Amino acid sequence: MRPHILTPLFAGLRDLDGIGPRLQKLLKRLLAPHSQDEDAKIVHLLFHFPSSLIDRRARPKIAQAAPGELVTIEVTVAEHRAPPRGQRRIPYRVSCNDDTGSLELVFFHARPDYLEKLLPVGEKRIVSGRLEDYGGRLQMPHPDHVVKLSELDELPLLEPVFPLTAGLSGKVVRKALTQALERLPDMPEWQDAAWVAKQSWTGFSQAIRKVHAPQSEADLLASNPARQRIAYDELLANQLALALVRARLRKTPGRATIGSGKLRDKILSELPFTLTASQKFVLDEIGADMAEPARMLRLLQGDVGSGKTVVALLAMASAVEAGRQAALMAPTELLARQHLNTLNSLAQAAGMRIALLTGREKGKDRERILSALESGELDVLVGTHALFQEGVDFSDLGLAVIDEQHRFGVHQRLALQAKSGAGGTDVLVMTATPIPRTLLLTHYGDMEVSKLLEKPAGRQPVATRAMPVDRLAEIMDRLGAAIEGGAQAYWVCPLVEESDMLDATAAEDRHATLQKRFGEKVGLVHGQMPGPDKDAVMQAFANGDVSILVATTVIEVGVDVPNATIMVIEHAERFGLAQLHQLRGRVGRGSDKSSCILLYKPPLTDTAHARLNALRETEDGFLIAEEDLKLRGGGEVLGTRQSGMPEFRIAALPRDTELLAAARDDAKLILRSDPELSAERGEALRTLLYLFERDEAIRLLKAG
Ligand code: ADP
Ligand code: MG
Repeated sequence: MRPHILTPLFAGLRDLDGIGPRLQKLLKRLLAPHSQDEDAKIVHLLFHFPSSLIDRRARPKIAQAAPGELVTIEVTVAEHRAPPRGQRRIPYRVSCNDDTGSLELVFFHARPDYLEKLLPVGEKRIVSGRLEDYGGRLQMPHPDHVVKLSELDELPLLEPVFPLTAGLSGKVVRKALTQALERLPDMPEWQDAAWVAKQSWTGFSQAIRKVHAPQSEADLLASNPARQRIAYDELLANQLALALVRARLRKTPGRATIGSGKLRDKILSELPFTLTASQKFVLDEIGADMAEPARMLRLLQGDVGSGKTVVALLAMASAVEAGRQAALMAPTELLARQHLNTLNSLAQAAGMRIALLTGREKGKDRERILSALESGELDVLVGTHALFQEGVDFSDLGLAVIDEQHRFGVHQRLALQAKSGAGGTDVLVMTATPIPRTLLLTHYGDMEVSKLLEKPAGRQPVATRAMPVDRLAEIMDRLGAAIEGGAQAYWVCPLVEESDMLDATAAEDRHATLQKRFGEKVGLVHGQMPGPDKDAVMQAFANGDVSILVATTVIEVGVDVPNATIMVIEHAERFGLAQLHQLRGRVGRGSDKSSCILLYKPPLTDTAHARLNALRETEDGFLIAEEDLKLRGGGEVLGTRQSGMPEFRIAALPRDTELLAAARDDAKLILRSDPELSAERGEALRTLLYLFERDEAIRLLKAG
């Protein structure tokens, strides 16, 4: 249960005065676009920090005021001069003065009755805005604020400015924030007192109030102590949650799994290639880990095409040799099927019994698989997250391999946790996305890491070119010649506004144009198609019956058709760098020369330009990941938010790398001295986890 002290902060924004359904929607889009709830929460608003500051504190007399300055001035209204009828380009002018000089307020497209009420002749008003010089006269076009002397306290002399979204005004956000801040209680201190003192930080709530009342530009910097404090809170919540998951995984004692090598040798002799030195090395690392009585929790990082699948197979073979079972979980059904296809003949040649389980295996088939699994007649189960659902019981799961883990969140990890039972399953997580060290820490905590550093010999570089879309005809001609010569190509259509439906339409349209020209040699696969249809098309492409495969990003990860050598990516400017790299990784897998054409729609933004350039310049996934981190300023390196990478509201990487390192050490120390978070600071830390919505980890404590 969420601590009571947080209840007011987790109320929806509709609770606030002045927030109706329309504003509620806009604020949700601004503050919590990916949340399942209809409404953003007050806490999300509190974490929405001002990005700049309007300083209206300069209060000169008219004679001292200079053009260009932003000022707040007390004036007496002298005269209104409306423009002659029909002359809309001449502004409405209001002359004002004080005892030192005169000033003209200027309004274009004004409504006279409104201005007469706002600025009655003979009365005093305070006006605030930027001054201009107009032919030697001092004027203030469209003052930002006009108030009576008695209303001076309504005029924000220091006005924080917030990032907004279309249709939402700063005034709305400021008004809502004022109310939100009133509901913010003082929190128990969850940080170490000595550390807080050393950093000269205030408590959490005081820091939030400070951030929302900036007094100078310096207060807006990320290095400002109030902002640092909150960034650190967020990082600690992240690191603590990870450490809890990890501690829990470690707590279940593991078992030594030592294979005889019999199945492995069989598989190796069947492979049409020999392992790279890198593959051998990581297999040794994995083997050593599995042989330890402690539980393995290891991340296998390897760029696209580096040959992770065979590593997984050999690791699974070891588990089977030791008399246990193995599971391989893929992020999509398409990939699960493909994995099964790749592994099937090798596994069977070695005498391993292997089956597939996805949401699509139903009825009798499913029952047969499940009972074979439970009785131990099955050695290896390949599938989607359906593998770890209820009702799927392994007889003795020794090793779980999770492919492309970045698609899986904490949820799935917890499900796996439950599945592994008392036995203590070793876990190998494989990711194709080279994750920079800093991000590795935020997502995986202290997982052991193995890296595939080289690719199989004989790979040719992928010739990568960026071309404007108006050269489509030329590209089609060349594509025609290439498939005439037996080549195969992917044609990727982009994400449209995060909508699967629209995606599918874009791909369908392109499929239609290509089919007009190339006939039945063109296939189509997208996320909206029924599973069996997808399989059929993928199979036809793998066989070579289909030469051009039009696809949405469903093929982004894992699909392996070594004969395909051409990759066309439409609207490449809309993709992230890491995603483009993944897509390109679908070609260049055999020994033939491959090419990748990045079709873009001009004009390119600077960032899009830099992305396409980076891709042309290197195929090294690690360099690309670093470049991506730079271009995006951190956070979303793994592509979209669905990546499951933690999203920071306040902290940002690589900017806060040092704080992250401190938070990581801190989290370790905390769990060492108070593993159940039951001491006084531990209780406060639970509140912290809820505050940053990392409370999933708390369930682990309860299950304890
Ligand atoms: P990824 O790391 O992207 O998952 P895969 O495991 O799909 O890579 O391997 C890419 C391709 O390279 C596959 O066609 C696979 O059969 C092949 N491959 C893997 N290891 C080797 C090797 N040592 N020598 C040659 N080809 C290999
Ligand atoms: Mg793969």
